[in-house]
Amino acid sequence: VSPSLPRRTPALFLDRDGVVNEDLDFVHRVEDFRFIDGVFDLVRTARRVLGGPVVVVTNQSGIGRGLYTEAQFRLLTDWMLARFEAEGAPVDRVYHCPHHPEHGIGDYRRDHPWRKPNPGMLLQAADDLGIDLPASAMVGDRMSDIRAAAAAGVRTRILVSRRPPAEADGVCLAASSVREAADRLAAAVGGRSRP
Ligand SMILES: [Mg+2]
Repeated sequence: VSPSLPRRTPALFLDRDGVVNEDLDFVHRVEDFRFIDGVFDLVRTARRVLGGPVVVVTNQSGIGRGLYTEAQFRLLTDWMLARFEAEGAPVDRVYHCPHHPEHGIGDYRRDHPWRKPNPGMLLQAADDLGIDLPASAMVGDRMSDIRAAAAAGVRTRILVSRRPPAEADGVCLAASSVREAADRLAAAVGGRSRP
């Protein structure tokens, strides 16, 4: 590595529905947004052990399906970010992908490099924020989150699931809750020496 290159920093990538908030299907209103127990601790743990940004990466095909608008998503996101901030657990950036290959309407009906399990959102964040992908971590509740992270070269991958599927074997760590995911993250990267 050339010393003239700017130093890259590890990040935590977080899925939204099922990790940040209860997955009630196409949540798009503040009144339906319920934070999952332990998620603020998870972000605080990440900031301590990774020392870099926290980035939400979320498929939002509800936009492409016409169930809610970009403006509604933005309003909810601003509110969510303010809540994280108020909890002393700031989230730096949110990337979302509105497309869906079958259910999208008009231009939204296509696969997209940003749609997980594709790694596009993580790669864009790495470019934007100077993220060291191999040193980073991903917490998601579906294998598409884990596959996106693996495709981006993120080495620490944690699946929040009470019944991890067989395909998770050897691909990711499993945690039965978001709270447990914070412990897993601390154990996986906490001992790593930081520059
Ligand atoms: Mg999810």
